[in-house]
Amino acid sequence: MRKAHEMRMVGTEESGLEEWACPTCGRRLMLRWPPHYEKLVVEPGDELAGHVGALETTTGPAPGERERRWLRETGKGPLTGHPEMI
Ligand SMILES: [Zn+2]
Repeated sequence: MRKAHEMRMVGTEESGLEEWACPTCGRRLMLRWPPHYEKLVVEPGDELAGHVGALETTTGPAPGERERRWLRETGKGPLTGHPEMI
């Protein structure tokens, strides 16, 4: 059974890239969400683990109006481990 690690967003760069880190294995990556999708793995960490992450973001002007974004990496390998947005 594949291990599951929960990633957390630790920061955002001025360019819009988000930095995500896994507290379990130390995996770190820079991520830009679609439509201009981009991913840069900084520290591979445990590539056999499945990585998921959730982030609540405020959308629109109304306070409390929130959207939850999910990050999921299947962890199949460096060439096929593309995250999916669900
Ligand atoms: Zn991990």
